[in-house]
Amino acid sequence: MLDLLPSIRALIATPSISSPDPALDLGNRAVIDRLAEWLSDAGWKVALQVVAAQPAKVNLIATLGRGSRGLLLAGHTDTVTVDGARWQHDPFGGQVVGDRIYGLGTADMKAFFALVLEATRGLDPARLAQPLLLLATADEETSMAGARALLGTDYLRCARYAVIGEPTGLRPVRLHKGVLMERIVLEGHAGHSSDPGYGASALEGMHGVIGELLAWRGELQRRHRDERFGVPVPTLNLGCLHGGSSPNRICAACELQIDLRTTPAMDLVALRQTLLQRVRQATAAADPRLRARCEPISAGVPAFEAPLGSALVQAIEQLTGASATAASFATEAPFLHQLGLEPCVIGPGRTELAHQPDEYLELAALQPTIELLRGLIDRFCVQPEEQRAQP
Ligand SMILES: [Zn+2]
Repeated sequence: MLDLLPSIRALIATPSISSPDPALDLGNRAVIDRLAEWLSDAGWKVALQVVAAQPAKVNLIATLGRGSRGLLLAGHTDTVTVDGARWQHDPFGGQVVGDRIYGLGTADMKAFFALVLEATRGLDPARLAQPLLLLATADEETSMAGARALLGTDYLRCARYAVIGEPTGLRPVRLHKGVLMERIVLEGHAGHSSDPGYGASALEGMHGVIGELLAWRGELQRRHRDERFGVPVPTLNLGCLHGGSSPNRICAACELQIDLRTTPAMDLVALRQTLLQRVRQATAAADPRLRARCEPISAGVPAFEAPLGSALVQAIEQLTGASATAASFATEAPFLHQLGLEPCVIGPGRTELAHQPDEYLELAALQPTIELLRGLIDRFCVQPEEQRAQP
């Protein structure tokens, strides 16, 4: 078994960039193969799940011990892309300077896997009354295809609770917003600008659509205010707009991309239906000759909220002394929740450093993470009496 810092460095040195651009996307297979070897050597039973028939994208599910109602330690093995010119440290170097280890994925979130291996080093599976599982996913940073691929499978059937080790500064997160990203496309006809009757302007239609979207946003914000979030309302961002080709030509096609961040009370399917309906109405009101459609840019991630009184959230609050909070970023938690698990998000590293140049993890966070993991393994796997007493 490797020591902790060399294991973190080995994971950082193994690139696993996810990107919607196939030229940049590397897949996560190399990291999974490394983890599979370490976990097998340490006595875990390892299973691999190829994601979306792409051999370079793999989920790893490892189990220690037997039984049901176990504890899952979960995270993603991919990283965002890297803009090397903006980094002062080697993004794949794992260089230690002072109290920090630098590299892409140090905080978000490859180091978490090395910490799990360290926390469980020498743990005798015979001591586990309930199993311990580890999940390492693909493609969290882009489509969440890895977590989605688990839906409908029974890889995690013997897990009850899930710790997702995303960087939260070791503060438990029990709820986060959801996200929808949608493309709105209007199509009309081009024509000479001297006579509006020669064409149907998609850009003018989009003007009506934007007005409608801003009115809808106001309604959603009045209806779904949730004071537990730092931004206590759902947000709708007009992210980019493309259309037309020349000042003297009527604009034939126009595309707007939006991002909608939802609170837990909002249903993504219903929102998509309302979006389409309101876009169509506004388009028809602007010019009945225009055609409108909406397309998801990605499949969307629902908001997540752990049940009140969650035994896992309470245990983490006791072990860390920090009360659970809400996060503004989305995680794989809703998918694990759909599988019947009770997740809580907590991990070392500061959220605001993720996806930034010179991402780092403070070495001072390593030992408290190991102690937290050992405390949870003890409560949920070694001596789980309280949980067994519950129905
Ligand atoms: Zn992450």
